[in-house]
Amino acid sequence: AAAIRSTLKLGMIPADGIGKEVIPCAQRVLEALGSAIPKPEFIPLLAGWEEFKKNGKALPEETIRVLKEECDGAMFGSVSSPSHKVQGYSSPIVALRKHLDLYANVRPVSSVSGIPGPKINMVIVRENTECLYIKKEEIHDSPQGKISFATRQISERASSRIGKMAFEIALRRAEERKVKNWEGWWEGPSKVTIVHKSNVLSVTDGLFRETVRKVKEMDERFKGVLMEEQLVDSMVYRMFREPEIFDVVVAPNLYGDIISDGAAALVGSLGLVPSINAGDDFVMGEPVHGSAPDIEGKGMANPIASIRSASLLLASMGYTTPAAKINTAVDSVLLQGKVLTPDLGGKSTTTEVTEEIIKRL
Ligand code: ATP
Ligand code: MG
Repeated sequence: AAAIRSTLKLGMIPADGIGKEVIPCAQRVLEALGSAIPKPEFIPLLAGWEEFKKNGKALPEETIRVLKEECDGAMFGSVSSPSHKVQGYSSPIVALRKHLDLYANVRPVSSVSGIPGPKINMVIVRENTECLYIKKEEIHDSPQGKISFATRQISERASSRIGKMAFEIALRRAEERKVKNWEGWWEGPSKVTIVHKSNVLSVTDGLFRETVRKVKEMDERFKGVLMEEQLVDSMVYRMFREPEIFDVVVAPNLYGDIISDGAAALVGSLGLVPSINAGDDFVMGEPVHGSAPDIEGKGMANPIASIRSASLLLASMGYTTPAAKINTAVDSVLLQGKVLTPDLGGKSTTTEVTEEIIKRL
């Protein structure tokens, strides 16, 4: 439930490229909610490639300190990456996930009813700290040529907390379904699909699968949530054939990465897809798209991914009603189809789309 607060302190990190254009739009929408949420206080914070070029730090210590000590949550835009490896530079978003222990990447992917396209309304919950991303690789010479290895880490702790988050999201979606404007396709009780490949990787994926299963078995609250499993290959096939059968999907890092980009392709533009980086104590909203240098500064970036990320941030803090209000306003703009950015075939600007959404709040 939402903590009782008089203000909501939010760290705003637009970072690079179109992040600088779309994060202010999310801010305007949050402001327009008025008394539906505690008065938001926005704290602008620095990070990114531009910042690195100016001051030699992609993620200044001050940014981390303010986020940890002063903020209730945050919004992150996007970072440009240098085209070649630069000494001393590493991605600030990866570092932020570590510093704040944001161990889950949560990405809802949904279509809007009335707009042609596949029926999809699922949430992908991707483990964000281990799997092949621990980056332990080695390479050796052998008589047959070079041979390389990568170590894949799957732990009980990480699998258990990501599993718990998936089931909690499933419970929350069950609540949301009771709200009038829910546009889900999956009709039954909430369902968690565990993605793995334990027929081949019986030790690592076996541990992931067993641990997530145990999360449900050990917790009374999750009794009413259905649980099923999909091998990752079959997951991809079914997601493209019949995406409407999925509700909440939980996966180890690499599978999660792949299926979440695949799912984003099902709903049209990258400019529509939001995400949050979530831990136990902190949540950061982030549009899925990158810095989009090809359209930077032209006022044509779609602000919807960021606006929806702000909605997710609110929902994760317990403000589900105002969060749903944002989504309803966004859906109604999409459905009307008149005020859209060029990525969706429209002629409107970033600002015009934002204002249209605010008008409908
Ligand atoms: P980066 O290296 O920062 O990821 P990128 O070149 O991969 O940058 P993305 O931001 O990932 O670019 O975008 C890929 C394509 O999708 C680009 O053509 C971009 O213009 C388009 N795109 C991404 N986000 C949006 C948006 N919010 N609105 C409109 N088009 C977008
Ligand atoms: Mg990209």
